Amino acid sequence: MGDLTGKTALVTGASRGMGRATAERLARDGALVAVHYATNEDAAAEVVAGIEKDGGRAFAVQAELGAPGGVHELFLGLEEGLKERTGSTVLDILVNNAGVMGGVKPEDTTPEQFDRIFAVNAKAPFFVIQRALANMPDGARIVNISSGLTRFANPDEIAYAMSKGAVEQLALHFAKALGPRGITVNSVAPGITRNGNPLFDIPEAVEAMAALSTFNRVGEPQDVADVIAFLVSDDARWVTGSFVDASGGTLLG
Ligand code: NDP
Repeated sequence: MGDLTGKTALVTGASRGMGRATAERLARDGALVAVHYATNEDAAAEVVAGIEKDGGRAFAVQAELGAPGGVHELFLGLEEGLKERTGSTVLDILVNNAGVMGGVKPEDTTPEQFDRIFAVNAKAPFFVIQRALANMPDGARIVNISSGLTRFANPDEIAYAMSKGAVEQLALHFAKALGPRGITVNSVAPGITRNGNPLFDIPEAVEAMAALSTFNRVGEPQDVADVIAFLVSDDARWVTGSFVDASGGTLLG
């Protein structure tokens, strides 16, 4: 597994967390990676610099997803970056990772907050795929990041979980449509995974979150990136339309 030499990849939300770890892993496997971010230009530049220092190839692309024109802006930057480095705009791998948490109880969620969660988490991945298909060759790979919360009840995150449930539909239906082209489409569902949230600096909170996994630890971004790396590799050519539990056994109950 892991030879992505000559392939190109776009990872949305790659300035931090699992997106960052995925961009780093795919670059290590040989892909030229577009490191997408929304606001955190310095963090994206740091990811690109780290990849290049390790002998890989990457470039940063900015776009606010969930905002009007966001997908268009993303592809302007992506195509410019690809053309400059490869002479073409071919995109072999798309990882729809960018997302926002809810963090608001159902009784306090406003229509505006609900719309924002859906715009970033569900609507944007749909239109990113729609747009990316013009650049994707036969045999390309699409991975959408869902959440264990589509299978694990958390009444405080209903709107967020609903948006991730919508994302999972992308794999089912696009996988069927794109099978004749050998393009695979899968969902990866992480459990609680370390990111920049200050909660991960509180030992008691980490202990409580770790207890949800059968391995009694929180996920590291690399735990999920390695699963994504498998799904975008040639080894996963027979896997499509699937829901891949990358929750460290959280869904075992
Ligand atoms: P982080 O919160 O660490 O990073 C989010 C990334 O998405 C950043 O790169 C951010 O860019 C980008 N982003 C956020 N909003 C937008 C937007 N409107 N437009 C474009 N880019 C945006 O991510 P995580 O690693 O925690 O999560 C990654 C994915 O995994 C998400 O889809 C999340 O829902 C899902 N997930 C996370 C879990 C967890 O425990 N961490 C559990 C289950 C699922 P910038 O830095 O520029 O702001």
